Amino acid sequence: MIEQTLILIKPDGVQRALIGKILSRFEDAGLKIIGMKMQWVDEEFAEKHYKDIKERYDEKIFNNLSEYIREGPVLAIVLEGVSAIPIVRKMVGSTYPSEAQPGTIRGDYSHISKEHANKHNKKVGNLIHASADEKDAKHEINLWFTKEELHTYTRTDEFHLV
Ligand code: UDP
Ligand code: MG
Repeated sequence: MIEQTLILIKPDGVQRALIGKILSRFEDAGLKIIGMKMQWVDEEFAEKHYKDIKERYDEKIFNNLSEYIREGPVLAIVLEGVSAIPIVRKMVGSTYPSEAQPGTIRGDYSHISKEHANKHNKKVGNLIHASADEKDAKHEINLWFTKEELHTYTRTDEFHLV
């Protein structure tokens, strides 16, 4: 099934100048970019985007995450493709870079562990966000993009079903 999913290149990904490298992975895999914008997140928007984090974790993790996502501009992208939601999650890798497999974005461009970050009171920089499931993808795409900001076009390689 053709799905749409939202990714964010988080402030550390933007500031480490990894936008091109990260996006080319998705483009190379045949995923189609149908929307893209750079934006600063404010507290209210962070709360909306990460609406279940307080329940899934706690207030402290949410506050850290909210601070992290507001450190600089983020790049929001909607990707479209066959089973795009799970495929993109697979390409992104595990939440903690120390546990993310080589070959994944988090595994290839970061290595920090949760323990090390906690010990030094630093945030876990894991570069990228990706919608977890269909429900989240719908919520997040609606939150970040209007209908007019999402585009329909044909990639030249669609003939070969990449
Ligand atoms: N996070 C964190 N410490 C934690 C759990 C989560 O810093 O113990 C941050 C991390 O940046 C993560 C985000 O919160 O990417 C959202 O958490 P989630 O469990 O949804 O992980 P993801 O879906 O991003 O892998
Ligand atoms: Mg998540």
